[in-house]
Amino acid sequence: MKPLNQLIRPNIKDLKPYSSARDEYTGEAAVFLDANENPFNQPYNRYPDPYQRKVKEKISALKTIDTSNIFLGNGSDEPIDLLFRAFCEPGIDNVVSIDPTYGMYQVAADINNIEVRKVLLTDDFELDVDGLLAACDAQTKLLFICSPNNPTGNCFRLEDIESVLKSFQGIVVLDEAYIDFAPEKSLLSKLNEFPNLVVLQTFSKAWGMAGIRLGMAFASEAIVKVLSNIKYPYNVNILTQEKALELLEKADDKQSWVELLLKERAMMQQALADLSFVQKVYPSDANYLLVKVDEAKAIYKYLVEKKIIIRDRSSVSLCDGCLRITIGQPSENKLLLDELRKY
Ligand SMILES: *Cc1c(COP(=O)(O)O)cnc(C)c1O
Repeated sequence: MKPLNQLIRPNIKDLKPYSSARDEYTGEAAVFLDANENPFNQPYNRYPDPYQRKVKEKISALKTIDTSNIFLGNGSDEPIDLLFRAFCEPGIDNVVSIDPTYGMYQVAADINNIEVRKVLLTDDFELDVDGLLAACDAQTKLLFICSPNNPTGNCFRLEDIESVLKSFQGIVVLDEAYIDFAPEKSLLSKLNEFPNLVVLQTFSKAWGMAGIRLGMAFASEAIVKVLSNIKYPYNVNILTQEKALELLEKADDKQSWVELLLKERAMMQQALADLSFVQKVYPSDANYLLVKVDEAKAIYKYLVEKKIIIRDRSSVSLCDGCLRITIGQPSENKLLLDELRKY
């Protein structure tokens, strides 16, 4: 990895971040008259903790990782955007991404006027390590890998991800939004080994909290500091922080949801494969299935008429004829199968 000082944009390196009232005084006090808040309507009258310390402490305990290695944002979308803003000079720098993958990397790149160099996965949806590295040049600051990958559903081989981490000179963003559904372990435990690794996780999937918008980025303390310097000062609101503290107590619920969804996934895998118009159900390490069918668009439209919405991925690279189906509640999965059997 290049030194962080060479990867970071000069204006960000030199930035004097906004210093809020809560930055300048953090302790307990009898009277707070420093932030021009209305003294009434407690506790929502107060600005939230800009560094979400209580939430980070809970996540730290849950994942055995130091709080200094945790960045929290408004969904994973926020750290994705901040990584572009911190490291990529508009119109000059570029990023490399696997293809197909999650659409947000491209959108964030477009907003920041950054070229995305897409490198196709192999035909069996594995990483083309040599292709990824060959696509990089001196201006490549970030390399995006999503594992388990959306929409293909598979985890990549650990040795392939590690090859990229060892050879790439910039920052590898490893999106683990679906890691709770996967048999493979998170790379979180390797943060100390790879200073150029940023792991993204989210509360939107296995934890069932997409509505409160809370995403996590795990990285070296130095990278976390850069992201914290450029975020909006109060990027995670009080309601989200309070609800997260409450719901993080329910790790057992999360675990039983995951187990139920994995059982349903196995059932759906088999049931879908038995349908005459299904060519292939790809193996999945996530909470959705990628299914290759005859007439993807027609099936999508048929299901919309039945008020069942899935995702048509048939125009995505390597996903010709493919639909992406999220695993729902048992009753929802049954409804989908009933309608598909009548198609
Ligand atoms: C759903 C998803 C996310 C989650 O995004 P949030 O902004 O945290 O809701 C992140 N990455 C991938 C690949 C996803 O599919």
